[in-house]
Amino acid sequence: MKMQNWAPRFYVPLLAVHVAILIAEPARVLTWSYVLVLACLAFTLFLGWRRLRFSVTHNRPTWALLLLALLTQAAAFVLLFIDSLKNPQGTLVAFDPTFYFCLNSLILTLAAAYRAVGSLQRWTSLIDAILAGIIALLFYVFLRKIIGDSATNPDLGRFVMWMFDAMSLFVATFVTLRFVTTKRADERRFYFVLLMFSWAELAFPAIHNRFVLSSESYVPEIFLDLPFVALGILLSQRRTVWFRGYRPAARTRIVAESVSPFVLSIALCIIAFGYLQRAPIIAIGALVLGIASYAIRVALVLGRHLALEDELKGMHRDLQQAAIHDDLTGLLNRRGFYRILKRDWEMAMAAKTPLTIAMMDIDSFKAYNDTYGHLAGNQCLAATSAALKTTASAFEGVTVARYGGEEFAVLLAGCDRATAEHVLQRLRLSIEALQIPHSQGTHRFVTASAGLATSTDGNYASGEKLLGDADIALYAAKRAGRNCIRWFAPDMVAREPGKYRRSRDQ
Ligand code: GH3
Ligand code: MG
Ligand code: MG
Repeated sequence: MKMQNWAPRFYVPLLAVHVAILIAEPARVLTWSYVLVLACLAFTLFLGWRRLRFSVTHNRPTWALLLLALLTQAAAFVLLFIDSLKNPQGTLVAFDPTFYFCLNSLILTLAAAYRAVGSLQRWTSLIDAILAGIIALLFYVFLRKIIGDSATNPDLGRFVMWMFDAMSLFVATFVTLRFVTTKRADERRFYFVLLMFSWAELAFPAIHNRFVLSSESYVPEIFLDLPFVALGILLSQRRTVWFRGYRPAARTRIVAESVSPFVLSIALCIIAFGYLQRAPIIAIGALVLGIASYAIRVALVLGRHLALEDELKGMHRDLQQAAIHDDLTGLLNRRGFYRILKRDWEMAMAAKTPLTIAMMDIDSFKAYNDTYGHLAGNQCLAATSAALKTTASAFEGVTVARYGGEEFAVLLAGCDRATAEHVLQRLRLSIEALQIPHSQGTHRFVTASAGLATSTDGNYASGEKLLGDADIALYAAKRAGRNCIRWFAPDMVAREPGKYRRSRDQ
C-alpha cells in the first residue's frame, strides 16, 4: 500500500487512543500522553527519513535539518516524559525542554536560511545562520532567567507563553518569506512542507498553552500531536500537487528577499530590548550586531548586484557587436553594413559630401571551393578579409563589410573619385598579393573584382540605389575579365540587367 494512504491509518487511531486516554484520565495520564506524542513523533520521523532518502542531493541538507529539528523535539518530549514520571501533575514550564524547543526553532531557521547554490547566497546564508544562532542563544538565556523567576511570580508563566509564540511566529514568518522567494520546484516542495509545519508549530502549541493555563482538563494535550500529524501527512505525499504550477511573481520575490534578512535583524533588536534592564552590555551588543549584520548583508548583495550589472552591460555590448559582425571573417556583416550606410548616407546628404560604394566579389570562388574544398574556401575567405581589413584601416572613412558569401561591400565616405579608385585598387591588389593558388581561376591566384558607384550633389535618391549601381558595375568588371575594377556608367544598365543584384536577393 502507498505510504500516503497508510499514514492516516496510523495517525487516526493514535489520535483516537490519545483523546480517549486524556478524557478517561487514568493514573499517570500525562506520562501516557507523552508516550503517545512520542509515538506520533517517531512515526513522523520515520516518514521524514524516507523523504530524506528520496530527495535530490542538493536538497538533502534541508530535509536533514528538518529531521534534526524533529529529533530535538523528541528529546524535549523525552525529558517531559521523564519529568512526568517524577511529577505526575506536570511542570508548567520545565527548564530543560525549553533548551530543546529553542534548538528546534534555531534548526528550522537554519533550514529556511540555507541556500545550496551561488557564492553570494552561501555568504548571506552564513550571516543568517550566525544571526539565527545568536537569536536562539539570547532567547534561551532570556527564557532561562524568566523561568527561574516564574516560581515566585505566576504571571511570568503567561509571559513565557507569549515569548514562545513570538519565537514561533518569527520562525514561521522567516520560513514563509523563504517559501515565497524559492524558484526551484523541488526546493519549493520542501519549503512548502516547512511552511505548513512551522505555522502548525505556532498555532497548535499556542492553543495548547492557553487551554492548559485556563482549564483543568487534559484534553488540550492532543494539540501537541497535531503539528507532527500535519507534517507526517505532508511527508507521506509524494508530491505537493497543489503548488506544482506556482511560480512567485518577480515583484513578490524581490520584496520577500529584501524583507527576509530584515526579519532576522529585527528579531535580534527586539530581543536586545528584553535585555536592556537586566544586561545592558548584551543589549547594546545585540543591537549593534542586528544593525551591522543587516548592513553587511545589504553591502554584499548590493556589491554583487553592481558586479552583475557591469557583467550584463558587458554582455549586452558583446551581443550587440556579435549581431553586426560576421563570425568567419570578423568583418561587419550585412546588418552592420546597412547601419553604417544609413549613418554615412545621412552625413553625406547633410554635408553634401561624396559617398562611394564598391561591391567586391572574389573571382571564380565556386571553382575554388570545388577544387580545394569548402574548408579551404573558408580559410581563403578569412585570409582575404584580413587583407582587406588591414588595407582599409590605412584610409580614413573606409569601411569594409562582408555583404554575403564571397562578396564584400566597401563604403568610402567623403573621398573623391580618384581617391576612391586608388583605395579600391589597393584593396584588390591586397588580395592578389596574398598569392593564394587557384588553379581553376582566370588568374593563377585568388583575385577579386569590384564595381563602384558614387553619389555627389544629390544625384542618388537612396543608399540602396547607389548599392544597386555598384552591383551593376561589378558585373561589368566580371565581364571585363575579372581582377579589375569598374565605375558605374548609366549605359551599363541596358547591357547588364542586374544579374548580381538578383542573384544576391534570391
Ligand atoms: P564569379 O567570379 O562570377 O564571382 O564566380 P563565383 O564562382 O565566385 O560566383 P558564384 O556566385 O557562382 O559562386 C559563389 C560561391 O561562393 C558559391 C558558394 O559555394 C561560395 N560561398 C559562399 N559563401 C561561402 C562561405 O562562407 N564559405 C565557402 N567556403 N564558400 C562560400
Ligand atoms: Mg558572388
Ligand atoms: Mg565570386
